[in-house]
Amino acid sequence: MYIIPERLIADLVSAEDAFDAMRGCFAAMADGDAYNFPVIREALGEGRQYGFKSGFDRAGAVMGVKSGGYFPGNAARSLINHQSCVLLFDPETGRPTAMVGGNLLTALRTAAASALSIDQLARPDAQVLGMVGAGHQSAFQLRAALRVRKFTRVLGWNRNPDRLSRLAEVCAEAGVEFTPVDLAAMQEADVIITITSSNAASLLADHVSAGCHISAMGTDTIGKQEIDPALFARAAVFTDEVAQSVTIGEAQHAVAQGLIGREDITPLGAVVTGAAEGRVSPDQITIFDGTGVGLQDLAVAQTALSRARAQGLGAEVVF
Ligand code: NAD
Repeated sequence: MYIIPERLIADLVSAEDAFDAMRGCFAAMADGDAYNFPVIREALGEGRQYGFKSGFDRAGAVMGVKSGGYFPGNAARSLINHQSCVLLFDPETGRPTAMVGGNLLTALRTAAASALSIDQLARPDAQVLGMVGAGHQSAFQLRAALRVRKFTRVLGWNRNPDRLSRLAEVCAEAGVEFTPVDLAAMQEADVIITITSSNAASLLADHVSAGCHISAMGTDTIGKQEIDPALFARAAVFTDEVAQSVTIGEAQHAVAQGLIGREDITPLGAVVTGAAEGRVSPDQITIFDGTGVGLQDLAVAQTALSRARAQGLGAEVVF
């Protein structure tokens, strides 16, 4: 069994690797070769959350679980609030094959899923990117999006505008113009990424113009909400997994209000494989409801394991 600590992940898995892993895992889900097990998430009190996301990819021979959660007291201990770890198992024997640090992998896989949706669904000529949220995940989201379209401008909004320096720095690195804006200015955006932990919609229907692609990435729990449910009624809606989208994803609100049904939501993997159509016109609004599934975590952890083995990194233990 390999132990691959958090500090090695940056050298083992790139944003490009994560993008390729997401394309493969979403396609395997759409083909019925891979599936996620039910998510367990428990409140521990004092704002702490802990749970498990797991699955099995028959085609890729990957099986395992990501265990982790949110621990709001961590910031005071100089630790990041989200903590996780991935365990991989041999699907033939059930023997553990690896224990892999999951924090950076979570950010990479979440950003890569969003970027894959932009790659598949945004207009090819998209130039203006809107970012709603400037927390830990936002910089990863922005970097990954800049890889898949030739954005010339980035508009940024955050509840606390001081935090926008995080996005400004990424834009400066990439040589792209960055402008802090009010939400109404998101009308100029061809693509909008929402990545907040909000419990009420920030992005309203009149903040979004025809032809926009929205990657709604922050809502992964009952009760969270980032965008106006009315947007769902006028958009083509895609997701990583429909079962999660309607229960813990952004679509939970539009479904609860009867604006859309689960039959209106298309798995992004089906667009990747060509089984379903994606954007059908330049004026269409598309929404990707990125809820975060266990198979995403397993896919990037498997990449880390393959690289660690090839490079002789990590520790091999007899278990
Ligand atoms: P963070 O704590 O670093 O940042 C939180 C962000 O949300 C900040 O920009 C903050 O200003 C904003 N925010 C909080 N409350 C708000 C409100 N009421 N209105 C508007 N904005 C508000 O968190 P993070 O690590 O960047 O994660 C952001 C979100 O993404 C979380 O909800 C997290 O659970 C989620 N997430 C989703 C996935 C996925 O696969 N979909 C993966 C990882 C994280």
